Amino acid sequence: MTEAPVIVVGAGIGGLALAQRAASLGRTVVVLERSGRVGGQIELAGVGGREIDLGAESFAVRGGAGAELLDELGLGDELTLPRPAAAWVHADPRPYPLPATGLLGIPTRPLASDVRLALGLPGAIRAAADRVLPRLRAGADTIGERTLGEVVGRRMGRRATERLVDPVVRGVYSARAADLRLATASPQLARALAEHGRLAPAAAAVRASSPAGSAVAGVRGGIGRLVAALAGDLERLGARVRLGADVTAVAADHVVVDGQRIDGFVVVAAPGLVGEVTARRTITVVAAAVRSRELDAAPRGTGVLVAPGARGITARALTHSSVKWSWLAAWDGVHLLRLSYDVPPGPERLAGVVAADVARLTGARDVEVLDVVTRTWTRTVGVRPPGAAAVPGPLVVGEASGRSGLAAILAHVRGDDVVRALDPAGAVPAIRAPAGTPARAHTPRTIDERTSLP
Ligand SMILES: Cc1cc2nc3c(=O)[nH]c(=O)nc-3n(C[C@H](O)[C@H](O)[C@H](O)COP(=O)(O)OP(=O)(O)OC[C@H]3O[C@@H](n4cnc5c(N)ncnc54)[C@H](O)[C@@H]3O)c2cc1C
Repeated sequence: MTEAPVIVVGAGIGGLALAQRAASLGRTVVVLERSGRVGGQIELAGVGGREIDLGAESFAVRGGAGAELLDELGLGDELTLPRPAAAWVHADPRPYPLPATGLLGIPTRPLASDVRLALGLPGAIRAAADRVLPRLRAGADTIGERTLGEVVGRRMGRRATERLVDPVVRGVYSARAADLRLATASPQLARALAEHGRLAPAAAAVRASSPAGSAVAGVRGGIGRLVAALAGDLERLGARVRLGADVTAVAADHVVVDGQRIDGFVVVAAPGLVGEVTARRTITVVAAAVRSRELDAAPRGTGVLVAPGARGITARALTHSSVKWSWLAAWDGVHLLRLSYDVPPGPERLAGVVAADVARLTGARDVEVLDVVTRTWTRTVGVRPPGAAAVPGPLVVGEASGRSGLAAILAHVRGDDVVRALDPAGAVPAIRAPAGTPARAHTPRTIDERTSLP
């Protein structure tokens, strides 16, 4: 009997990496992608004559799946680490460097000089009270249900929450610490707290469990190169990628696209297509090329997180990409930056808002915006993957399976469970959706616009 083809829905990193695995195992593979390009939340765009990532720009090095894939694709030598300069927090009345040894902004050494600078001496002493307060006595599950804001506030005080944790949480999750469950922010921290009973040692233990050195890595030329290399490898392996193919229904053994049924072994790598989406969030990334001699001195290290409530700033965070990544180093006073916005400024105001934000966030007074490119992303942040069903559904990978970030997605796709599921002689898939789960009407509000300035 001829083996069923593997039908992968979604050509983001999850779908492409899965397709590459399946094709390497000798399976016939068809990737169906709704949009007109591959990569999903990874995309390179030109700004100021250089290419820069508009979506994911790095991956966590833990687990090694990202580095392994780069090696396999012949890009191993292109792996690069960000410069180890500190990031800053923009808060009223003045900015301060984010303490170097924190976890989610939680200081592991509350009386260190950089924490005292950020919190003031009374604030640092209050944070250090974590050491003398009665230990937290509860299991990881119970602790995980508390909010990060509640736990940090009780153990280290309001100032540590507002000036250290909130800016980081806002930058990473678009949320306030008071609204973020600890289990969502860091299940490892919930477990460490259950063990240590105190916040600073628990945060230190989680940090120590990460590999030494930088926690994240990038690719010289952009993470987008990883997608291009994967697509090239798929072509070499004879896999087919169909763009503009909007899948409207999925089951374990078939999909419906353009009203037509296609039979095969189905893998869903499109967030929102199966399972339950509990939250979506929209974020606009603006990449800008600006001329400024004052930025040559890297006045805010690799970038700035904006504390909630900081006055006069529209952006939520700024990355000084030319400082963070050596391959994007400034030339002739031209710097590349990435700013993120909850609510994007309209096209006619964009250059002015970017210039004002860059000037206020970095302190540079000679900022001239040369070029900007914007991309609005809608992310399905709260995906509850499908549970076990009586009739097995499709294999689910990527963000669609509730995972987030390249490291977690690649570790899963390249892990034994998935390989076993793809192997003709293999076992059943690790995660299965209820059969016949209808595809959701999913309209991403993505704007893709470019404003070139004189
Ligand atoms: C601005 C931004 C910055 C980020 N930064 C980082 C970072 O630095 N490090 C990190 O690890 N992660 C980062 N992430 C997260 C990371 O990019 C994602 O977790 C990852 O790329 C998700 O990959 P995926 O393949 O699961 O989904 P996606 O990339 O979303 O791909 C899914 C694909 O499925 C397609 N699709 C959807 N519905 C259908 C359908 N019905 N039929 C056919 N196709 C469909 C979509 O068009 C899309 O191409 C960032 C994300 C964003 C938006």
